[in-house]
Amino acid sequence: MTKIIISACLLEREVMEEAARHLPEGELSVSPRDWPFRYDGKSKALKDARLACWAEEGRLIPICPEVMGGLPVPRDPSEISAGRVISRSGADVTFEYTCGAEEVLRLARVLACEPGGVVAILKQGSPSCGSREIYDGTFSGRKIPGRGITAKMLAETGVSVFDETELDRAEALIG
Ligand code: SF4
Repeated sequence: MTKIIISACLLEREVMEEAARHLPEGELSVSPRDWPFRYDGKSKALKDARLACWAEEGRLIPICPEVMGGLPVPRDPSEISAGRVISRSGADVTFEYTCGAEEVLRLARVLACEPGGVVAILKQGSPSCGSREIYDGTFSGRKIPGRGITAKMLAETGVSVFDETELDRAEALIG
C-alpha cells in the first residue's frame, strides 16, 4: 500500500487524529497536540473527503518539518534568502529547517522500502514544503519559482511530490 507523506497543516484536526491512530510509533512524526502546525497558528486544512479515507486506510503520514526541527507553534514566519532560511525577526533558522527535512527524509527512506512505496503531498509556497514556488526572501508577499528545503530533498531522492491542488494526480499514482 502506497503511503502518503503529507503536510500536517493540510489536515483537519479529526483527520490528523485518525491518521495518528493508524500509525506505528516509528511513523508518527508529529503529534495532533501541535495542530494546526502553521507558523501563525491558523488552520489551512483541505476539505476533501479523500484525506479522511486515506487516514482510515493508514496511508497518511503527517509531517511538519518545522515542528519536527524543533520550532514552536506559533513561530515567526521565515523565508529563504541566498540559500539560508531567515525569520522575519532576522534569526537564521536554517539548522532547524534542515533537521526537520532530514527527519522527513529518514521517514521517506523507511517507507520507500515497503511494497507500494511513498508519495508526498506538500503545502505550496512554504520555505519547507513548497514544491514549485516560495516567497522571495523579502517578506513582501512576492513569490518566485523555487522549492522549500524538505520538498527539494524529497524530490532529489526520487519521491513524487504533489501540492494541495494536485490530489487527483496523487490519487492516480497511488491507485
Ligand atoms: Fe505546513 Fe510544511 Fe509549514 Fe509545517 S512546515 S506548517 S507542514 S507548510
